[in-house]
Amino acid sequence: MSRSPETIIENGLAIRNVCKHYEDFAALEDVSLHVAPGEFFTLLGPSGCGKTTLLRIIAGLELADSGQIFSGGKDITRLPAIKRQVNTVFQSYALFPHLTVWENVAFGLRSRKFPAGEIKRRVERRLEMLDLGALAGRQPHQLSGGQKQRVALARALVNEPDVLLLDEPMSALDARLRAQVQEDLRRLQRKLGRTFILVTHDQAEALVCSDRMAVMRDGQIVQTGDPEAVYDYPKNRFVAEFLGVANLIPCTRVPGGVQTAFGFLALEQEVPWEKGTVAIRPEWIRVGEHPPERNGVRVRVTDIVYRGTSFELWVEPGPLRVRTSSYRRINPGREIWLELAPEELQVLEDDTN
Ligand code: ATP
Repeated sequence: MSRSPETIIENGLAIRNVCKHYEDFAALEDVSLHVAPGEFFTLLGPSGCGKTTLLRIIAGLELADSGQIFSGGKDITRLPAIKRQVNTVFQSYALFPHLTVWENVAFGLRSRKFPAGEIKRRVERRLEMLDLGALAGRQPHQLSGGQKQRVALARALVNEPDVLLLDEPMSALDARLRAQVQEDLRRLQRKLGRTFILVTHDQAEALVCSDRMAVMRDGQIVQTGDPEAVYDYPKNRFVAEFLGVANLIPCTRVPGGVQTAFGFLALEQEVPWEKGTVAIRPEWIRVGEHPPERNGVRVRVTDIVYRGTSFELWVEPGPLRVRTSSYRRINPGREIWLELAPEELQVLEDDTN
């Protein structure tokens, strides 16, 4: 289905040319993006890049200096937070410490004067969905981090918002629990079919959870796409480095390809710059005993790291990471051939500014 700009504005959350300054500092510079209804969208980027500021503007907790926000075709740029069909789960969870789990979840409906029967029905449904039924009578200090996180989610979801905003909601959890909650969150979002917008600086979290993601840097969106596309085809060096996905090889343009520390490498693509970077994923480098036809590099294996489903080789000259499943005849000290095939080499946009 093709989507014209008009249908995009009609059908989802659209952010158009949003700018936000704190005195002289530009926290957001001309940010535009579209989130489709029912989509799990992630804002990913390093600390201070403007993710939370953008989330707070969507929530109505902060006003943009310029630009517009549309939700379902309506301009909500100046609509107060309370009137938006949007709820936020904060990093700190912000639970009321003296209220029980049940009362925390019911709070929003009570203050909006919902009838008692409706409150009971909705709260019980959400507690059950998030596996909190047995904890309904506890207070926040009697809960683990993961349980508090689920209460915060239940409290936001009980209001049945069109859009749920999640500001690093998993940062307080340990690594194992975080992996579990990421999957739970993804499943929950699919089941509910609501729009979730997640803020995180954790690339693995973004890849697990998102239908689509935007990578941000210095108040701007650098690349938007589904996780596979961003992971496989980082647009520039910043994205490739931030996602930690590729070997980045400095190079100079020469006829037919580039000159690198590994010698001449033929490329399929045109190189638009004199000096720049080409990238190759560790698992896309082929390992062999004989020189390949094109782009062969002779290296010595210095170390082998077991990664569960594959092995990572460290080689000299380097740095070059190689991931392979066929390690058996390779020992440290051994010389091997690597093929950096032209079709696997990506020319990265220059972002050295
Ligand atoms: P983190 O991952 O660390 O939470 P972030 O990407 O969410 O970072 P923001 O919180 O959006 O970043 O902040 C973006 C920039 O704006 C930061 O440099 C921050 O210092 C600045 N900033 C945010 N709020 C204010 C404020 N109220 N006054 C001045 N500067 C601010």
